[in-house]
Amino acid sequence: MWLKIRRFLKLLFPDGLYCFGCGAIIDDSRPYGLCDDCVAKFHWANKKVCEKCGKIMKEEGVFSRCSDCRADEPPMVQGFTCFLYGLYEREVIQAFKYGGAGYMADKLGRLLWDRLQPEIARGLTWDYIVPVPIHKKKKKKRGYNQAALLARRLGELSGIPVLEAGLVRVRNTPAMSHLDRHQRALNLEGAFRVHEKVAEKFSGKRLLLVDDVYTTGTTASQCTLVLMEQGAEAVYVITLAAGAN
Ligand SMILES: [Zn+2]
Ligand SMILES: [Zn+2]
Repeated sequence: MWLKIRRFLKLLFPDGLYCFGCGAIIDDSRPYGLCDDCVAKFHWANKKVCEKCGKIMKEEGVFSRCSDCRADEPPMVQGFTCFLYGLYEREVIQAFKYGGAGYMADKLGRLLWDRLQPEIARGLTWDYIVPVPIHKKKKKKRGYNQAALLARRLGELSGIPVLEAGLVRVRNTPAMSHLDRHQRALNLEGAFRVHEKVAEKFSGKRLLLVDDVYTTGTTASQCTLVLMEQGAEAVYVITLAAGAN
């Protein structure tokens, strides 16, 4: 219901007037499209995170890596995320993904860009931004690939070129929410390949893979492996949200 209202309001008012989380009226100075209440409700990845994948970890834990990364080291160099994929945060992501609310990428992409600032300050650089692709059937149904919209926005803000169709999803896999990590990996085997037109561009390059959500990391890992097979020097991953550890 709220989605329908939001879409309607979108026709009448410019971006940034309504909070993505609760619909409260906000002014355009809020950089992420969230009101102060929602900013306070979100679980931000600003305390202890997994040093490998960036997932939020419990403060009191003794490990520096999450259980997924300890069980099976992901092939990317490092992952970054902005907030927990919790119940409240999920609504914003779902609206962005399935609600025909692609315009949200403008603000959410800024969130990714701000998240990268400390990494850029410590010297990290990337040659290309590459979104995690969705299958063309899904894209047709949804109207857009949310990861590509985020990548495009990140490209605008950073000046880093975006290889929007760099990766292609060749197999449309069934939903994976009920599968464990190993089943997910099997499910995704051969699901991605690089686009032959840009394949030679990846060799020796430092890449930033963009997606909306990082859960077990299977998707990011499969994409990373495909890029590394093309000779990528390093692959980093950035997402809006990551699942709990
Ligand atoms: Zn709000
Ligand atoms: Zn991890």
